[in-house]
Amino acid sequence: NKQIIFSGYVSGFPKESDLKVTTTTIDLRIPERSTSVLVKNLYLSCDPYMRISMGKPEPLSSSLVPPFNTGEPIIGLGVSKVIDSGHPDYKKGDLLWGVVGWEEYSVITLFPYSHFKIHHTDVPLSYYTGLLGMPGMTAYAGFYEICSPKRGETVFVSAASGAVGQLVGQFAKLMGCYVVGSAGSKEKVDLLKTKFGFDDAFNYKEENDLNIALKRYFPEGIDIYFENVGGKMLDAVLINMKLNGRIAVCGMISQYNLVEPEGVHNLTTILYKRIKVQGFAVSDFYDKYSKFLDFVLPYIRQGKITYVEDIAEGFESGPSALLGLFHGKNVGKQLFVVARE
Ligand code: NDP
Repeated sequence: NKQIIFSGYVSGFPKESDLKVTTTTIDLRIPERSTSVLVKNLYLSCDPYMRISMGKPEPLSSSLVPPFNTGEPIIGLGVSKVIDSGHPDYKKGDLLWGVVGWEEYSVITLFPYSHFKIHHTDVPLSYYTGLLGMPGMTAYAGFYEICSPKRGETVFVSAASGAVGQLVGQFAKLMGCYVVGSAGSKEKVDLLKTKFGFDDAFNYKEENDLNIALKRYFPEGIDIYFENVGGKMLDAVLINMKLNGRIAVCGMISQYNLVEPEGVHNLTTILYKRIKVQGFAVSDFYDKYSKFLDFVLPYIRQGKITYVEDIAEGFESGPSALLGLFHGKNVGKQLFVVARE
């Protein structure tokens, strides 16, 4: 059983040596009278929150995501096929998505809202790591529940071509909003405009002054900011928000690898402009997962929602695929294939 093992707590940018591929023999039988299932992992997901799990455990971050254990397999999300089952609701051949180790086979104890049975297989299975999985739910809960969007409002999304951002933009267009995204390359900016239907987009790495860039796209200001990056972008957005604007703090990826977080200077605008700033965790919204599927599946089938994935091939590609997120290497949702069936 190949596994990807966590070497130990990381400070600064993670390196490939922090994640080691090993082969072990493990007992893959499920214990008698247990309700565990033995699964073969097909697709494993690379997600930015995993960097938080690599940091030294501290109470605040651990309340959002549990830390990895040194010397044990990385824990993440994946799509898996049941090989053997002691659980009354799962039988051999069933598919599920949820929390699994980064390994070829896992024996897992199933928990509600940690594991979800897959019922719809007319869409690519890998979508359950992205569009139909945790990032999709994040975009849905973050945009509709936290941002309280209204038709005609102006929306700005950072890390807009990624797993979450590309969906937020498409949801905003479905709602009749004006939406602009920022991303870190020309290829990503082109995707935003041509594939995901953003009204406009810009490469933040080519802008000397983010405040001036935002004024170009939002001369009247921003009603909704879907925050994925933090740092300098947040500072520039704050002074471009409209009165009574909303900021959904989904993530702050620009801060995850810094030893000292960057300061944000323009916080007084929150007061002057009566801005509502709200952080959220997708795990608090999984009771809405089936409602989300009912909402999004028809759009996918009608071709009204599209999704771009960056699929690395093979188990050994896992560490570099994950690390690539922090250098903007992924174009769309990053995952890797362990096995296709
Ligand atoms: P993405 O697919 O967007 O991948 C990460 C992207 O972040 C990179 O491709 C890169 O894009 C951008 N990035 C990396 N480093 C920096 C940096 N220093 N400054 C600016 N941008 C950077 O990831 P996801 O869509 O999966 O996640 C997006 C955000 O949502 C993350 O912050 C994540 O932590 C958060 N999240 C929060 C959840 C919650 O429950 N609150 C759940 C899921 C995700 P580019 O080339 O454009 O710079």
